[in-house]
Amino acid sequence: MNSVDLHCHSTASDGTLPPREVVRLAKQCNLSALSLTDHDTTNGIAEAAAAAGELGIDFIPGIEISCEFPRPGTMHMLGYGVDPDSPTLKNLTKTLLEARGDRNPQIVEKLNELGVAVSMDEWREQAKGGVLGRPQLAAILVRKGYVSSIQSAFDKYLGEGGLAYFDKERLTSRRAIELIRESGGVAVLAHPPQLRRDNFGQVETIVKQLADEGLAGIEVIHSDHDEMWVRELTRLADRFHLLKTGGSDFHGSNKADIHLGVANGRRIPREWFDALVDGVRQAQCGVGR
Ligand code: AMP
Ligand code: FE
Ligand code: FE
Ligand code: ZN
Repeated sequence: MNSVDLHCHSTASDGTLPPREVVRLAKQCNLSALSLTDHDTTNGIAEAAAAAGELGIDFIPGIEISCEFPRPGTMHMLGYGVDPDSPTLKNLTKTLLEARGDRNPQIVEKLNELGVAVSMDEWREQAKGGVLGRPQLAAILVRKGYVSSIQSAFDKYLGEGGLAYFDKERLTSRRAIELIRESGGVAVLAHPPQLRRDNFGQVETIVKQLADEGLAGIEVIHSDHDEMWVRELTRLADRFHLLKTGGSDFHGSNKADIHLGVANGRRIPREWFDALVDGVRQAQCGVGR
């Protein structure tokens, strides 16, 4: 099967492979196209695009943004086809990084109060110049022996309900979608199971509202999606005339059980990439959504 991966992370955010290595791995895994979707930054895009050009893999720029959403759910919005050089995108990433800059020292301070010895400098070092994300901090806690795994670092300290959990300022979905579109891209709702709603009816209501706000697609295949989710999300995408996308959400060894190009045993069809590229082109011409 000719397959692709439209959701993955590099050292530009909280993945462990540099952008060019993610692309190289995609080539090794026989993927025909890739999107890099780092959290809050497009700093990895130029390097990934260049590597994709050299290796003969198709590439579409991406970004992943967290939106305001009631707990315990989280809403992530993917932006595909955004122009990293557009003033809107530069402003957006600057704002998002400032929100992290406000939150991260709070987490470290709380951990210190709890007797966990970590510093912002260690976190920066672990991030290797990329965006500071909680998985890197989790990796430090594992290395220092405070917890046995990345997952237990989230369960005990860093995740929602954890001892050192702090929220960051987020955009509303409406604003996130608007800014993605202004940056030349299309907005796609990431991994809907993480909305943590009680039933598909509630998910449908949210998707309908997002579609009214200008949403262009839904992530139908993802490492968190079982058969039932894939079926329901396919139905929702068709019902609201939305693009279907898919990806592994690869983070390198920060999520060691996730492999590039594979999402809970499924592969993402090439046709979805082609339709996404078409969708971006149409949006940029002001046609359709
Ligand atoms: P941040 O961008 O710093 O807020 O961290 C978000 C990253 O942490 C994403 O890659 C998530 O997949 C990961 N993450 C968030 N909550 C959890 C959790 N409860 N368990 C494992 N990973 C998580
Ligand atoms: Fe992440
Ligand atoms: Fe996400
Ligand atoms: Zn992701």
